[in-house]
Amino acid sequence: MVSIEELTSFCKRRGIIFPSSEIYGGLAGFFDYGPIGIEMINNIRNEWWKAIVHSNLDIVGINGAIITHPKVWEASGHVDEFIDFLVECKKCKEKFRADHLIEEKLKIKTEGLKEKELNELIKKNKLKCPKCKGELGDVHEFNLMFKTKVGPGDGETTYLRPETAQLIYLNFKNVVDTSRQKIPFGIAQIGKAFRNEISPRNFLFRMREFEQMEMQYFVKKEDASKFFEKWQKARFEWYLSLGINKKNLRVREHVKKELAHYAKKAVDIEYKFDFGWKEIEGIHNRGDWDLSQHEKFSKKDLKYFDEETKKKFIPWIIETSAGLDRVFLTFLVDAYHEEKVKGEKRIVLKIHPKIAAYKAAIFPLVNKDGLPEKAREVYNLVKGCFLCFYDEKGSIGRRYRRMDEIGTPFCITIDHQTLEDNTVTVRNRDTMEQKRVKIDELLNELYKSLYS
Ligand code: ATP
Repeated sequence: MVSIEELTSFCKRRGIIFPSSEIYGGLAGFFDYGPIGIEMINNIRNEWWKAIVHSNLDIVGINGAIITHPKVWEASGHVDEFIDFLVECKKCKEKFRADHLIEEKLKIKTEGLKEKELNELIKKNKLKCPKCKGELGDVHEFNLMFKTKVGPGDGETTYLRPETAQLIYLNFKNVVDTSRQKIPFGIAQIGKAFRNEISPRNFLFRMREFEQMEMQYFVKKEDASKFFEKWQKARFEWYLSLGINKKNLRVREHVKKELAHYAKKAVDIEYKFDFGWKEIEGIHNRGDWDLSQHEKFSKKDLKYFDEETKKKFIPWIIETSAGLDRVFLTFLVDAYHEEKVKGEKRIVLKIHPKIAAYKAAIFPLVNKDGLPEKAREVYNLVKGCFLCFYDEKGSIGRRYRRMDEIGTPFCITIDHQTLEDNTVTVRNRDTMEQKRVKIDELLNELYKSLYS
């Protein structure tokens, strides 16, 4: 499996992802998407939206604001509870997440442990700074929310949202009142979230600015377990349907002491990275906690009126919550392959065609003899249906390799025979096999091969 370091430099080389503000030395936890990466992440975002919103009559989407009234984060518990445990080296001043440091050094689980217990573990085991071996200070709670000011002058202090979910709860009543949805139904959202992570690392895995894809499904209390099972299964299947290798994917249920204070049940969908099995998506039964809290803090009635029973109640919520960038990282790691072809290393991104940036690349075999003109005709035919790459310079072998590396499923080559019989060669990324296809049948052929 490709290491995160190798993948990071590969992504930069191939225009997939760049470190943000790199000319100023970069800023830890922030990344920019390049010309290839933006297409791929847009495709993942669209696949999720299609699978969640467009394929289900009982789910609608919203897009909420990034900055909200500060009371939201008091009600949600983030002001008091959204903390990690920080420990700083007294000598080099490097900061670490105490729980991660202990887990790595002592190979034990720390779920549910608080400041005092983590401190004791560090002192008892005489753990030192991993960077300079200096003495570590005491463990402190650290709130992960980014503060900001709204308005001129001193303004009002609020926060950049650390999750998208709260915007859905805030709009629950608006959606009930304006759509024809009846419980059970869901509201979905994709958008940026911000967390001032103590030590962002592992590339897109732990960032300070990232995107979440979340869906909150509102149900009657007695139906919560049924829908939890349904969404757990559906979300696992989604990854498989987009080609993730099943042996690298698993579901892990949270043990009791790991559960957030409001959660009734939680599972993580985990992927096996080179740094271990890690969460890529969570499915949570949040009970009636969120809407009850907002009802309490806003003093507005957020109950749902059931027309059948004529009763009002606070719905329970089943949440599916995935990080778009983390999911993108998962697709990249899973798709990255190195193989030997005729004694030479070939890097190939065997990514699902639905996620690949370009669906096809169009090349004239040589840059003369009327082949570029013919190739542009083919490009104009295909570009209306699929995003295509076009390149007429350099050796054909090198052009193929470049497309393999960014995961383009097909390369279409226009050669001298094309001018005679109106056929092109279509080369398959994974098998490298080539077949001749009539230009008239090209679109059909591509469609079948890409999506069946
Ligand atoms: P972790 O334990 O890894 O910090 P979490 O349990 O805090 O994650 P949630 O709050 O449940 O994560 O967020 C839902 C999803 O958002 C996660 O499954 C993950 O895919 C994504 N996510 C969370 N934090 C980050 C981050 N710092 N960078 C990138 N993605 C993130």
